[in-house]
Amino acid sequence: MIDGIFEVPLPENEPVLSFAPGSPERAKLDVALAQVASEVVEIPTVIDGRAFFAGKDGRTTDVVMPHDHAHRLGRVHHATPAQVQQAIDGALRVAPAWQALPFEERAAIFLRAADLLAGPWRARINAACMLGHSKTCHQAEIDAACELIDFFRFNVAFARQILTVQPRSAPGQWNRTDYRPLEGFVFAVAPFNFLSIAVNLPAAPVLLGNVALWKPSHTSAVGVWHCLELLRAAGLPDGVIQLVPGDGPEQGAVALASEHLAGIHFTGSTATFRALYRGVGEHLDRYRTLPRLVGETGGKDFIVAHPSADVDEVATAIVRGGFEYQGQKCSAASRTYLPKSLWPAVSERVRAMTSELRMGDVRDYANFVGAVIDRRAFDKISGYQKLARDTAKVLAGGHSDDSKGFFVEPTFVQVDDPKHRLMQEEIFGPVVSAYVYDDARYDEALTLVDTTSPYALTGAVFARDRAVVTHTMARLRHAAGNFYVNDKPTGAVVGQQPFGGARASGTNDKAGSLWNLGRWLSPRSLKENLLPPKDWRYPFLG
Ligand code: NAD
Repeated sequence: MIDGIFEVPLPENEPVLSFAPGSPERAKLDVALAQVASEVVEIPTVIDGRAFFAGKDGRTTDVVMPHDHAHRLGRVHHATPAQVQQAIDGALRVAPAWQALPFEERAAIFLRAADLLAGPWRARINAACMLGHSKTCHQAEIDAACELIDFFRFNVAFARQILTVQPRSAPGQWNRTDYRPLEGFVFAVAPFNFLSIAVNLPAAPVLLGNVALWKPSHTSAVGVWHCLELLRAAGLPDGVIQLVPGDGPEQGAVALASEHLAGIHFTGSTATFRALYRGVGEHLDRYRTLPRLVGETGGKDFIVAHPSADVDEVATAIVRGGFEYQGQKCSAASRTYLPKSLWPAVSERVRAMTSELRMGDVRDYANFVGAVIDRRAFDKISGYQKLARDTAKVLAGGHSDDSKGFFVEPTFVQVDDPKHRLMQEEIFGPVVSAYVYDDARYDEALTLVDTTSPYALTGAVFARDRAVVTHTMARLRHAAGNFYVNDKPTGAVVGQQPFGGARASGTNDKAGSLWNLGRWLSPRSLKENLLPPKDWRYPFLG
């Protein structure tokens, strides 16, 4: 037992390493890339610290490099429904000991994980992210290293801040708030596209004393596996996070049927989150506590340019915002609204810049674009390219090739109909559409931005006219949870732009912030009477 009111280290955002030729980080990354590429990692179900591999009747799924789909990186061993149940039971068994640990002791594990990742584990986890997700070294660095380190460190600082929020006490009393974890387990369901998000889904609730069942996406499983090893190296006790890889609906059915489901921490598509929400509704009568539902979901993110905008700035934002990580960011720009007066110059700049982007194996540092994640994504995005070729004007790209990897050309399209499917639906690939509006009809263009798609995740305005910026921020107040002025709509940083959106984009609980952490707590109010009365009669009775 130790005593003290402890401060936690004040976090700074982890600096992004450059990987410039000749840099030490590039040399280390090359070694790690060769190592990860030479392995086939067996990714088991992990229950109470024990690894379970699929038996001869069990199911497995191969993990391949998206940019070289003949190259296997790992094999995921699906948890059976009985194992998912066993994982829930095990987590509930360790829950009392985990929540009895003082906050600082739990926090120390995540602070250590952050330092391990910033130092000796960085190259290995970046390499796993590059090869498994087909991210360039820069995209892997800002995700698997920097954002995850930031999540670990900032969550600790924000959680400490929450704990300090305490009630006032009237004379003769002492009031306190006890920040309890939820009673039960949190089901953490992860998307493929960000390793940092995948890890934060169980890590944030767990920091606050919860236990979690972690369902990763198959395609990110190699990185997830390395990150679980990282957390164990940092001292995370067995059973606090149980890894249950497998098919979503199958694992979800067992988790949602449990009376102990206390929350779902989800990031992924809108359709999946709605299915989970519905599933919870169907089982509502059986839960011991009403589950907290936190879901960050899809986007159809926009860039609107005013005639006062700078052409090069707009074009650069379209190319970086739309095509980095092959457009597979929930925040990726995918519909743009451009004034007629700027259109010839902007479209020409975008076309010229796009023609310079090199696409290929992410181990070649000159490549800006890798492959899309898997066959399903390739087919879906290629379908949208065909739709563009058939019904719109393709100005750059427009084709795809899956002979070696799942490669989809960065594609820029002009549509005549502002309500074209390309302007409404989440494509989740490197396809950006443009609608050209009359300069005098800027306000009508804003109405289109606000009403064309069901999503409201990210968006950006480009304008030099300050009155226009102010007006646009007000008009589009509910059109995006993260709104950017003269900047691309991607690249949110923990602690700087808390991330999330409303409408069909989710519950907007802002991952990596105070608000998200608050969802994993069930505060208890404690009142202590310092001088309890000894007589039932109130003075007025006399
Ligand atoms: P997805 O919805 O296909 O899958 C997400 C996870 O849900 C996977 O682990 C999957 O196996 C699981 N799943 C599917 N059905 C399930 C069920 N019935 N029960 C339980 N689990 C189930 O999403 P994805 O393709 O992996 O990720 C891309 C999506 O994620 C895009 O729509 C993107 O916009 C969104 N996303 C949003 C954010 C954000 O912060 N808003 C961040 C990243 C990604």
